[in-house]
Amino acid sequence: TGDRVGWRFDNSYARLPDYFYAQQSPVAVRAPQIVIVNHALAASLGLNIDALTAEEAALLLSGNVLPQGAQPIAQAYAGHQFGHFAMLGDGRAILLGEHLTPTGERFDIQLKGSGQTPFSRRGDGRAALAPMLREYIISEAMHALGIPSTRSLAVVTTGEQVMRETPLSGAILTRVAASHLRVGTFEYAAGQGGADAIRILADYTIQRHYPDLNDAANPYLSLLNRVIERQAALIAQWVLLGFIHGVMNTDNMSISGETIDYGPCAFMDAYNPNTVFSSIDQNGRYRYSNQPLMAQWNLARLAETLLPLIDPVSEKAVALAEEAIHAFPAIYQTEWTTGMRKKLGLLTEQADDPELIADLLTWMYQHQADYTNTFRALSAETLPADSLFQDDTFEAWQARWQARLARQSGIKEHSVHLMQANNPAIIPRNHRVEEALTAASERGDYTLTQQLLAAVAHPYADVSEYYDYRTPPAPSERVYQTFC
Ligand code: AMP
Ligand code: MG
Ligand code: MG
Repeated sequence: TGDRVGWRFDNSYARLPDYFYAQQSPVAVRAPQIVIVNHALAASLGLNIDALTAEEAALLLSGNVLPQGAQPIAQAYAGHQFGHFAMLGDGRAILLGEHLTPTGERFDIQLKGSGQTPFSRRGDGRAALAPMLREYIISEAMHALGIPSTRSLAVVTTGEQVMRETPLSGAILTRVAASHLRVGTFEYAAGQGGADAIRILADYTIQRHYPDLNDAANPYLSLLNRVIERQAALIAQWVLLGFIHGVMNTDNMSISGETIDYGPCAFMDAYNPNTVFSSIDQNGRYRYSNQPLMAQWNLARLAETLLPLIDPVSEKAVALAEEAIHAFPAIYQTEWTTGMRKKLGLLTEQADDPELIADLLTWMYQHQADYTNTFRALSAETLPADSLFQDDTFEAWQARWQARLARQSGIKEHSVHLMQANNPAIIPRNHRVEEALTAASERGDYTLTQQLLAAVAHPYADVSEYYDYRTPPAPSERVYQTFC
């Protein structure tokens, strides 16, 4: 089936030393059936899934039939999970290989839920339908919001049950990623026998993601700095949009700067910096406001693995790495403040902007204002008549904001456009995601999933058809916990 689809595999990862992976094919499933195919993504990759019959597509996207040129492997990696080191690896995923698009871009094609591998430990290697649809919906929403993210090409059901607390429908997600290089991959390499493995991995990473660093005076220190910059920018975007990843373990932090591994992630409704949804995050380690700090912690783990490459003199290497890691908060703060200025339509920088921003957030917190809708309301030509805004504190803040806008030379229209392009109308709200997943997994009804996907595809547009998706959950609809 390979030729008709347009696959063009070149599997550079499988050419690395064999300790970086295990050769492993997907374990065939009983009766694969297509649930959803992302035709727009397929087209952008130069792939034509439509050239296949539904049956052929299901065989391909379940891993029962391998695409031409694939060289399936399970990748080895380690990671700090909630602060504790563990050997991990792809326990329920198979990298089919790297597909080259017609314009020469390289993407990992991974099947998630594809059966046991040498890294499965006690796991069954499988995934349930609802979590795979969840990753599909949220990753595609993130992409539409403009946040770097892995993408989702398809979900198929397997015709098999997976045993969790109850038996559930099994499913496989096809994930498309710039790569699956993780902070945890570096931690694995560092444990593999000294500077050799880590140098091979770092060189591979520079070649694949940051080839301009070849010319840097210290390419490995520059690699660390580049990943720090990418992660600071990424986490700032999460925070600016109210996204909570939920499991920021080092194995779930991508070296390319994409959001990866959507488990119990969720968007915040009412603004509260302490928001945590994940059922497995008992201590709130990965709560909304702690994400920058946790990113910095993860990056310090990356830095440790690079020490022998940064400088042969270990004290020098440590000093350089520490300097790089200590720069994270300032880089993050600049990214976040720049983003907040856009959300408030500020075309220039003024010294009291941080105070203006902080005071709005404090007011939002005190009034449990909806994070997304408040910023979207501020982006309108005129503020909507909402009882929330009939408040002295808000009116005082609004007067300061209006005065601040008047103090900049730009045209009012520019501010409005900037705000509307940075304050989404539509996010994949938890209660709508849960409602769609319940219909899909309990009744095999994918209408709500399709509608939600259509709604989140144009988050910054004003489409009356999707106004419903802007409504925050009623108290009875509120989702307090998410599961992976
Ligand atoms: P995650 O929490 O999805 O980032 O996964 C953490 C680790 O657990 C990774 O090594 C996964 O491959 C592994 N894992 C998660 N679920 C399963 C499963 N059902 N079977 C085998 N391994 C799994
Ligand atoms: Mg993971
Ligand atoms: Mg996962």
